[in-house]
Amino acid sequence: GMLLSKRYESTAAESDASSPPPTGEKYEYQAEVSRLMDLIVNSLYSNKEVFLRELIRYDDLAGLYHYRRLVVKVFDSFDSNASDACDKLRFLSVTEPALLKDNVDFDIRIQTDKDNGIVTITDTGIGMTRQELIDCLGTIAQSGTAKFLKALKDSKDAGGDNNLIGQFGVGFYSAFLVADRVVVSTKSPKSDKQYVWEGEANASSYTIREETEADKVIPRGTRLTLYLKRDDKGFAHPEKIQKLVKNYSQFVSFPIYTWQEKG
Ligand code: ADP
Ligand code: MG
Repeated sequence: GMLLSKRYESTAAESDASSPPPTGEKYEYQAEVSRLMDLIVNSLYSNKEVFLRELIRYDDLAGLYHYRRLVVKVFDSFDSNASDACDKLRFLSVTEPALLKDNVDFDIRIQTDKDNGIVTITDTGIGMTRQELIDCLGTIAQSGTAKFLKALKDSKDAGGDNNLIGQFGVGFYSAFLVADRVVVSTKSPKSDKQYVWEGEANASSYTIREETEADKVIPRGTRLTLYLKRDDKGFAHPEKIQKLVKNYSQFVSFPIYTWQEKG
């Protein structure tokens, strides 16, 4: 794995939490997603210590609070989504180089805005079309999360144990463990439009709109913005993110750039 740390400028627009977002078209989550989100926000979150105990076994960073270990899991999930997205596009571009749109670099950039408690993870991977946003982030089509829900049900039926998140993870939806608002702005090489998916913890629906703000347009890939919960804003400190990346993303085969304050 490769880890690079590089300085780059934070753009003002990304750090601007004050302007109200334009409203998008509203979609209801598939019932299973609502169930999972509810679990994440209300049950996993309040029982986080229980879940964390499981994670500690393969996680021996001394001196950190239990809770951090769950957050590690969250970022681990996004690193791997970003890395999967780069892998997919790299694979497709072998036969279809035009998909790269003049940018041959695959990388992942993590930016932090500690004053507003915002973490942004940007990749130059495959991105998602509007339909893919609905399929991927509004339904549970993929097996990992479905297995998690099934295992959870089975274990509840059997008297219940709460350690399943350590075994399965909940992928994208783990965002809602630390964020109360999540924005995914994404552009697939199959589409000439960039779309913005926006969801909130404790909501039964999400919205999708077209990206209209010129300074938020990306050539391709995905930008995930986590608006951290009040108690979790500490994770928007660059040193913390750098530490997480250093310790947990060694196997990501694309460079991960973390934002540093200019000294
Ligand atoms: P998994 O990664 O196990 O499939 P996730 O919940 O993490 O489950 O993600 C669900 C799906 O959303 C992924 O399979 C992928 O299709 C899509 N997705 C998530 N993040 C990204 C991203 N950064 N770029 C492109 N697609 C993504
Ligand atoms: Mg994933």
